[in-house]
Amino acid sequence: MTDTALALDRLRGGAPPRNHDARTIAALTANPGCARRGLMDAAGVDKDAVARALGFPAQFGQSQFAITRGNAFEAQVKADGCAELLTLLRDRLGLRLPEVAYDDLEVVGGNEGRELRYTRTRRLLARALESGEGTLFDHPLLRLDIAGQPAYLEPDVIAFQLEGRFHVIEIKSFAVIDGQAEPDQVAAAARQSAVYVLALRRLLAELGAPADRVSHEVFLVCPENFSNRPTASLLDVRPQLAVLERQLARLTRVDRILEELPDDLTFAPGDALPEAVRAVAARYAPECMATCEMAFFCRDEARACGSTGALGRSVRDDLGGVDSIGTALGLANGTIEPSPDLVETAEQLRTAARLRREALDGAA
Ligand code: SF4
Repeated sequence: MTDTALALDRLRGGAPPRNHDARTIAALTANPGCARRGLMDAAGVDKDAVARALGFPAQFGQSQFAITRGNAFEAQVKADGCAELLTLLRDRLGLRLPEVAYDDLEVVGGNEGRELRYTRTRRLLARALESGEGTLFDHPLLRLDIAGQPAYLEPDVIAFQLEGRFHVIEIKSFAVIDGQAEPDQVAAAARQSAVYVLALRRLLAELGAPADRVSHEVFLVCPENFSNRPTASLLDVRPQLAVLERQLARLTRVDRILEELPDDLTFAPGDALPEAVRAVAARYAPECMATCEMAFFCRDEARACGSTGALGRSVRDDLGGVDSIGTALGLANGTIEPSPDLVETAEQLRTAARLRREALDGAA
């Protein structure tokens, strides 16, 4: 184990690392400047458990009903070696599909070990690349580097080779009604699919294949209208891929974050947990409420210390370099002398304060 891997193991308090999935990686890119999230995700810390131990449980996620419905729809589409899925791709998308092989990579010889499953995925994809034969790979285990550390992607997707190119097939249980689906849900599916496309490209790159062997067009399979009948459409994820690659590249490398932290820091449950979490800098913004399990803790912390981030990302960006509301108010009313880099911001704040006073006086 490397020093970094040992340090990350200690951060988890010896607990096994939590697997990433495409949703958590897509959400990770929503706040790439947050060292706290970058460190916890790179270490595979169970943020949901940490938030509960801190007394700030997360309150988002799918309802049990939605999860059950999603699982049932996926099982239906994948039944009998994906028979329904293949019919759909032939009929709806007009694909000329010969008979294809089906490989389920969820468990290898009764062993669910991630390294073993990843190795098998790699081996089978290498064989498919060489033969060019169409094969459905269910639950391929993929890997992406997150903040300098490899993260395994929990597979809930199918990789499919067609005419020498691999495609990702994403099965979602939200309905397509009269050819239209909820834009937010399609956007979330596109972000998650982009994570799989990127991870598949990275894996094929290791095997010497160019990036365009993995298509940027994803097959999205959803229930049609108010039935359980599946329908398929093509989703171009190029914009999401561009954002994802840019954001992942920007994520602070975790070994640099670790250098600044005490050697004995751990997120294991206990009295020292709040202090340990606060030791790692956060970058809270209201958007965290929809994307991160730590949001209630971080919001409380941001409010308590008067962070400008608590007012929203745009406010923090407008106040570039002013981290606390108290400092912003002090600069606006002239009780705090600005440092050279904040002279311009202070001037704008004083102008804004004067205009506000004049508007209020006028109204009175
Ligand atoms: S909720 Fe906290 S840990 Fe999560 S991204 Fe926001 S600031 Fe970072």
